[in-house]
Amino acid sequence: MEPKNCLQSNELFHRAQQVIPGGVNSPVRAFGAVGGSPRFFSHGQGAYIYDVDNNQYIDYVCSWGPLILGHSHPKVVNAIEKATHKGASFGAPTSIEVELAELITKIMPSIDMVRMVNSGTEACMSAIRLARGFTKRNKIVKFSSCYHGHTDSLLVKAGSGLLTFGIAGSAGVTQDSAEQTIVAPYNDIDAVEDIFNKHHADIAAIIVEPIAANSNLILPNPNFLPGLRKICDKYNSILIFDEVITGFRVALGGAQELYNVRADLTCLGKVIGGGMPVGAFGGRQDIMQLLAPLGPVYQAGTLSGNPVAMAAGLATIQELQQSDTYTQLSTTSAEVCKIFSKYPQVSARHIGGLFGFSFTNEEEFKLFFHAMLDNGVYLAPSAFEAGFVSTAHDKQVLSETAVAIEKSMKVLEEVAI
Ligand SMILES: *Cc1c(COP(=O)(O)O)cnc(C)c1O
Repeated sequence: MEPKNCLQSNELFHRAQQVIPGGVNSPVRAFGAVGGSPRFFSHGQGAYIYDVDNNQYIDYVCSWGPLILGHSHPKVVNAIEKATHKGASFGAPTSIEVELAELITKIMPSIDMVRMVNSGTEACMSAIRLARGFTKRNKIVKFSSCYHGHTDSLLVKAGSGLLTFGIAGSAGVTQDSAEQTIVAPYNDIDAVEDIFNKHHADIAAIIVEPIAANSNLILPNPNFLPGLRKICDKYNSILIFDEVITGFRVALGGAQELYNVRADLTCLGKVIGGGMPVGAFGGRQDIMQLLAPLGPVYQAGTLSGNPVAMAAGLATIQELQQSDTYTQLSTTSAEVCKIFSKYPQVSARHIGGLFGFSFTNEEEFKLFFHAMLDNGVYLAPSAFEAGFVSTAHDKQVLSETAVAIEKSMKVLEEVAI
């Protein structure tokens, strides 16, 4: 195993740091937690990505979820090309927005109506505003270790990005907005009961990742999601499922299909844009009708429902509707976990197209991360992130992954000796 030549990446990182804070446009891309400097990528094909020094890697980040069909899927590329030729944006309605909205409402029965936005952050921010407008209450309950984008009121105990850098919240968030957020431990329904006993008259909504995929990967206890549903029904609060990661990834209909719990509002993102910047939120008609121009809750966007982004999302979801996609994705993530199961110092879990693995000790992850890079596998540069597979991760990719893991674990053993 040879460390890779990264001259071009290092040179770009040097330039980037002069003009972009930290050299990256989103903190999770930096290598702050694992040491070293980030790779700059040039192109991707299927399960593989290539950096600017032309090193090849198997990609288990998949742009943090969106690229569920792998890189440069021909149907998605074709849809984007066609849409671009017809016009990048109108700031006026187009037919493809209606098509994607119809498809989403068909796939997710809890969604009667949906509004397109440009990111998962916007989706969660808008869903919270809508829940507050509907209930005329102010407080929201969120769970530690869940991430819902970087809106002020949701940036409290917010999972991986903050955990990676060891910070509890963010500077610049006012006391007022943080005070409206009550944080509960994930999977602890008794704690939620207690909170509602005290504050129920003020609680507009519970927002939750139905599968927590921003703190490595935590699956919900069997009583957790049904328990949240019951509490919201009892106190007339809104249950918001943030399915920005899980939607179209753990099952076509998301975690709500897997666990058969109905959300009042659902936030979407990542996969529904097929790699383009898209988010969406939707749900019960009586709530959604409060949005402007129908109702008093204002929400808007110059590029919302952008035809190029809608085309990429539509092509992606149509491809996902093929019969055995989700069996294939969960077989792949199970296979990754099976490779890890040979090593007692690693625990691994998976669901649908997601997996998580953790070492008993954080130093081991750093070593493993760099050894995997040297062996041609790109993992998220943080021990707190989930792993993402795509339909392009086939048997060949998995057997190359197994070899890389085996070699990287040897490096760990050598260091330990
Ligand atoms: C990624 C993510 C978001 C934020 O989406 P952006 O498009 O990055 O703004 C919100 N919620 C969850 C669960 C996410 O994983």
